[in-house]
Amino acid sequence: MCLSRASFSTSHGGGRRFRVARQLRLGFQKQRVVSISIHSQNIRELLDNDAFFQSEVAIGDRNCKQRLDRSLCIRLHNAKLFFIKRFVFDSGVNHRVKRRCSDARLLCQSVEQRTLALTDAPVEARDTARSAQYLNVRHRVDACSFHHAPAFLQTHARAGSTESLAERRAIECYRAPPNQYTGGRRPQRRRWGAIWSAVVKAYIEEFLARIETRNPHEPEFLQAVREVAMSLDGVLDRRREYREHKILDRMAEPERSILFRVPWTDASGQVQVNRGFRVQMSSALGPYKGGLRFHPTVNLSILKFLAFEQTLKNSLTDLPIGAGKGGADFDPKGRTDEEIMRFCQSFMSELQRHIGPDTDVPAGDIGVGQREIGYLFGHYKKLRNEFTGVLTGKGVVWGGSLIRTEATGYGAVYFAGEMLGAREKTLEGKTCLVSGSGNVALHAVEELIRLGATPVTLSDSGGCIHDPEGIDQEKLQWTKDLKIHRRGRISDYAERYSAATFHPQAPDADDHVVWTFAGDVALPCATQNELNEIDAKRLLENHVQVVSEGANMPCTPGAISAFLDAGALYGPGKAANAGGVAVSALEMSQNSMRMRWSREEVQDRLREIMRRIFRSCAGAAAEYGMEGNYFAGANIAGFIKVADAMVDQGHV
Ligand code: NAP
Repeated sequence: MCLSRASFSTSHGGGRRFRVARQLRLGFQKQRVVSISIHSQNIRELLDNDAFFQSEVAIGDRNCKQRLDRSLCIRLHNAKLFFIKRFVFDSGVNHRVKRRCSDARLLCQSVEQRTLALTDAPVEARDTARSAQYLNVRHRVDACSFHHAPAFLQTHARAGSTESLAERRAIECYRAPPNQYTGGRRPQRRRWGAIWSAVVKAYIEEFLARIETRNPHEPEFLQAVREVAMSLDGVLDRRREYREHKILDRMAEPERSILFRVPWTDASGQVQVNRGFRVQMSSALGPYKGGLRFHPTVNLSILKFLAFEQTLKNSLTDLPIGAGKGGADFDPKGRTDEEIMRFCQSFMSELQRHIGPDTDVPAGDIGVGQREIGYLFGHYKKLRNEFTGVLTGKGVVWGGSLIRTEATGYGAVYFAGEMLGAREKTLEGKTCLVSGSGNVALHAVEELIRLGATPVTLSDSGGCIHDPEGIDQEKLQWTKDLKIHRRGRISDYAERYSAATFHPQAPDADDHVVWTFAGDVALPCATQNELNEIDAKRLLENHVQVVSEGANMPCTPGAISAFLDAGALYGPGKAANAGGVAVSALEMSQNSMRMRWSREEVQDRLREIMRRIFRSCAGAAAEYGMEGNYFAGANIAGFIKVADAMVDQGHV
């Protein structure tokens, strides 16, 4: 929600005026300029500036006297700009325009008097007080343009209201029976301007409160929903139908959540019982699609957060896929192949009732690689007597797509490259910090090496290795064998390569050791909330320029704010790691057509998809006045597509 206010003043000096015009432009690019104060006799230069006309309210001081011709008045009127002090109108300016300007002037007189009284106060106090007053004026001007609200205005004038009071009052107006303030009609957004923004802000807060009440004890899910909702005020302001159709509420409620018992027998003959899940979040854009995670920490909160993120991620790919996520609180670490197979078969015995190539198409995630997908697919085939594309991430010889295994890691690197490209830089020669040592991390490292960058870290839940000489192709192949076939720990790397050091991760530490090293690019590719505000600040001190999330929600909200505030390039997971699901969708297409594309063909498509995702994030961010904020851009672009589909499909 952008209720921030930019206030600029002009003097008679030409240089200062130029600076003001420039500030206006910059101000408008960064945020919506909602209030501008003008202290000048000569304001015509400002009026020539288009950014100025896109602001909402302008306030002139007592010396501001300007002859306004008809075209200027009409522009001011259309842009909802009002000058408060003495206008001299040319003949031909119509009565309605004059009346609105006069109303504004009258209502603001008392505020001006108070501003004058402040002239002798210390500068700091003066500025603060003025800011507050101008903010109040903004609300009054907006309100006064709404002729059916006299009670509201009187209360304000008496109360000498503060911003929050004005906002609260606006919200009360909105919630009141229609004819209390509006003579039977709901206020028009166009007339209410900034007050309407307060209403949208309240709507989002109410939505979040509802979600918190309905989903207690689900911190990860609430974190994911909050992050998205807070970026959507501009969209919800412009597209009122999204609020009327309760799109946010519906999007945050899974279409279906399935919980089931998974009994299996371990190597010693003991019966074990795990809990299986499938969250079918959204089918607005296609069949449910999203990975399965086998990890002891799996619970409904984690799967709902992943499924919610997946909704926007899948939408960003522009491919016809809905969103889901599933898994079990099963720990594959230390289990034999036979145990894994028995578990997968038991898991699929129930899951098969709920999935299908046109219904729900799961893939892998943490703890679910090609081995697990093989066991799951084999059992589905046996139970249903069907050889279909019901899972993605399959082996290449039995229906899998080339590049699917590599796609998430490669995609995160391409996204980092696109962000750097926007600043006319490349990955070549950059030192990169990578966390994790699973599927995503290892393939990210592979592509970084190919593009001439130098990855220097890898990690697992035990700690990280730092190799100042860089991880090259030979070291990567050794690590892949260690992790994929021998299922060893990353600490073994430091024993094998003497230049590298191993740094254990204390489980209760406030920070994460992998982010303490110097580097230009950070790729968190392990798990959620693995990079917090302390880590982010340390990375920024070490001059990191780019963060591209290979994992889902690896950065905490504090870390994201730190990166955005510092102007670092930050690629959120729902955009940066969408390469995996995109190639999964390509695998589904190949399965449907019963054909296989070449490695080059899939890789070219992946590159193109990542470029397209980057462009939609950048485009949406710019359209909503947050240029370069790919976090907001990804949320907005992903949301709009799903929301439009939901509006079209009715309340289902
Ligand atoms: P993976 O192959 O199972 O690897 C996970 C890696 O993260 C392992 O090195 C693991 O170390 C580490 N890790 C897990 N939990 C950790 C923790 N609490 N602290 C520190 N390290 C931890 O999984 P993956 O497929 O690479 O997935 C990694 C991330 O990418 C996940 O967030 C996943 O949701 C996301 N993602 C994956 C795909 C995909 O196609 N696979 C697609 C999109 C997003 P240990 O072995 O010690 O546990």
